[in-house]
Parts: sequence; C-alpha cells; structure tokens
Amino acid sequence: MSAYRGRLAPTPTGELHLGHARTFHAAFRRAMDADGALVLRIDDLDPLRCRAEYTRQAIDDLRWMGVHWTEGPYFQSQRTEIYVDTWRRLRDAGVIYPSHVSRKELRDAAHAPHEDEEGAEPIFPAEWRAPIGAERAYEAPWGVAWRFRVPDGEVIRFDDAKRGMQAYTAGVDVGDFVVWRKDGVPAYELAVVADDIAMGITEVVRGEDLLRSTARQLLVYRALGATPPAWCHEPLVRDAQGRRLAKRYQALSLKTLRERGYTFEELLARGDDMAGVGEGGAAALPDV
Ligand code: GLU
Repeated sequence: MSAYRGRLAPTPTGELHLGHARTFHAAFRRAMDADGALVLRIDDLDPLRCRAEYTRQAIDDLRWMGVHWTEGPYFQSQRTEIYVDTWRRLRDAGVIYPSHVSRKELRDAAHAPHEDEEGAEPIFPAEWRAPIGAERAYEAPWGVAWRFRVPDGEVIRFDDAKRGMQAYTAGVDVGDFVVWRKDGVPAYELAVVADDIAMGITEVVRGEDLLRSTARQLLVYRALGATPPAWCHEPLVRDAQGRRLAKRYQALSLKTLRERGYTFEELLARGDDMAGVGEGGAAALPDV
C-alpha cells in the first residue's frame, strides 16, 4: 500500500443522491489508483439533523456502488475530545474569538453577498469582532459561538487537481467563520480539519461546493502548524436547468434509483446525461 490516504465523509442528514455518489466514487477510484488507504468517516456532528437510519442507508448505498474502504467507519459524534483539543490550540494561537452575533444578525447585515455554489456566506463585519485577547478568558468552548479571525486582505491560494490554481481573498471572499457553535456542536470547518489531520489524510476529494471551505480550512491548518492535504474538488451534478441536485435531491436519491432498477454502472456511464434525469421527480425517470 502507498502513502496515499483518502476519505469518504458522508453527512447522514438525508439520503445520498447521484451527486454524492459520483464524488464518493471518484474518491474511491483515486485511492485505489494510488494503491492507498480509504477511511470512511461519518460526519454526524449535528445531533438535530443527523439520523442513524441515514448512516445505515449511506453505508448500504456505498456498498451497492461497489465502493469499499480500508478503515472505519469512524463517527464524528464520538470524537468530541479531539475537537475540544483543537479548539484549545486555536485559542492558544489567538486566532479565534467568542462571538455573540447570531447567524440571523449576520444575514441581516448589509454585507451579505448572494449565497452561491462555492459556499459563500455573508462576510462577518470586522467591527463585530471581539477585542484581541477576548478568548483568553475561556477555558472551554461551551456556551458561546466561536469564530476564526481571517487575515484581511491576504490571498489564500491552493492548487486543485480538477480546477487548477484557486485564489480567495480573506475578508472579501471568506470572512470570519464559525469554528464552534453556540449550541455546543463543533463546526464543520474545525471538525473536518481536526479529523483530516488526525487521520493522516493526504488528499481530500469532495464536491466543488466546498471550494471556499478549503480556503477557510487552509487557515486552520496553518494556525495549527499542520501540513494540508492535496485537494480535488469534483464537479456537481446538475439538472437540465443547470441547478445543482443538492437542493432538491429527493427525486434522485440513490435509494429511489436503486428501487427503479438502475445499476450504479449504468448511472455512471450516463455521465453528464444525468443532468436531465429526474425532472418532475422520480416518476419522470425513463423506464429501464
Ligand atoms: N461531510 C461533508 C458533506 O457531506 C463533506 C466533508 C468534506 O468532504 O470535507 O458535505
């Protein structure tokens, strides 16, 4: 086995759809082609939205796709200690601060750009930051939300295996982002970096809706003094109108497609043809 270590990281908040399937399959292929390891990690941090039945379904779907992994499943919901430790290191580095601004207040702020497909969110206004050093009063993350203070004006660059060189400007394209939620749940940007470091991941393969998150996560890697993995962001599957599937995926859930008798090979072979499938819901799928 080579030194390559990839991962599959489904979030069990709903059924997997064809977009997920293509990304997971790509991650699987890249790990196999590299003769590497592939870790299955269930990103089940959000106790209100994640369900065990979706985890079971995701594992079932992956097996149906012929995707197999060499390690795991690991569950983020069982790894809180690692995230608290990471929080502490970020606090000690002085790069995060407690924030009492709610997501709604931020959304209502005038700085809000339109939500786009690369994970844009409103830029957190610099004047709403907590004073430098405010984090030192805290021994634990609980009870308040925490944000990462981005280095305003710095251009964050990375080379993506599919998309080439990417550049995001801190304070313009990515603002201060949440690393710990007020309800006590570690935020995605912290948990995923903590895990990818702990699991020794050498390449992250995921959907291109997370490109902007990569810029954020690179700041976390640097603050932790860790070497980031390589990146490979896969194109999203779109419908005939060019909209990504994620927003309305029930019609194209793998479960539905399986029940309709498709094999994964067939679906994969259709390539971008899949864009037209599912208009009007599963009933509009061509018979097979
Ligand atoms: N669990 C995340 C998701 O399903 C993906 C995490 C990642 O690949 O970084 O959106």
